[in-house]
Amino acid sequence: MNFQRTIKKPVTLKGIGLHLGKEAAITLKPAGVNQGILFQRVDLADSLPIEANFRNVVNTQMATTLGKGNVTVSTIEHLMAALHGFGIDNVLVEVVGPEVPILDGSSVPFCTALKTAGVQNQSAPRTALAIKRRVEVKLAEKWAVVEPSSRLEVHASIDWDHPSIGFQEFHYVEGKTSFEEISAARTFGFLRDVEALKKMGLILGGSLENAVVLDSALVLNPEGLRYPDEFVRHKALDALGDFKLAGIQIVGSFKLHRAGHDLHRSILAEVFKDPANYEIIETATDAGAEAPAASKIAVAARFAV
Ligand SMILES: [Zn+2]
Repeated sequence: MNFQRTIKKPVTLKGIGLHLGKEAAITLKPAGVNQGILFQRVDLADSLPIEANFRNVVNTQMATTLGKGNVTVSTIEHLMAALHGFGIDNVLVEVVGPEVPILDGSSVPFCTALKTAGVQNQSAPRTALAIKRRVEVKLAEKWAVVEPSSRLEVHASIDWDHPSIGFQEFHYVEGKTSFEEISAARTFGFLRDVEALKKMGLILGGSLENAVVLDSALVLNPEGLRYPDEFVRHKALDALGDFKLAGIQIVGSFKLHRAGHDLHRSILAEVFKDPANYEIIETATDAGAEAPAASKIAVAARFAV
């Protein structure tokens, strides 16, 4: 039986935000069945929860940012990836400030927090979205394709004209690939871009503590890389985080080349554009389980275009 999941108790994480460089904090709290992942700015009066859904993504420059009205929450992707890794369907994320803390630039601190909080099975079964036919998006040299498969797969590749990166690929297969194979992969950037990005008000909190930084030839972090192909593994991690913005587990095989947050949002939008592209399926198998009809209807309503 595949039940929806939340966390057992609240857990708080604090640290600086990557882009503004200011102290930020989040508290994850248990949420009821079919609530989904919700982000709520608690430092602003009367700020309503924002559903973690690709339709609420308002910016994809250097991070995935959710927004509603003039309220935004940025850099959600590594937390979303950890929530995917733990199979969490329902949680309220209270956020102090406009950014989720960057921590070490990977999803490990979020995974540690989720272990502390504990995972709680809920009474309703989990549904999934099965891809029924090939969907693709191309943006110049970047592309994303998703095809039918019996499980979620993310085949990520990058091709960077840099002596420490070059061509790398990583194939994540849900249920086969351990989440630990990607969870510690850190975000990365180039020294030559740092000044320009800082002038744009981005990565003000970026440092060797929370990102892999490269000069024109080498990795500058004294500790080196956590995996020889840490760059493409981080791409797979970002993709899993962003695909959780479907609001439902996807059963399909993604192939992503030079993808980023913009392309991840675009391929989800393309899938949801035509209901013939997908089917909502029950993942429950226990005949004695609670009737899934209510849950199915609630989920279908959330995905009505
Ligand atoms: Zn990332």
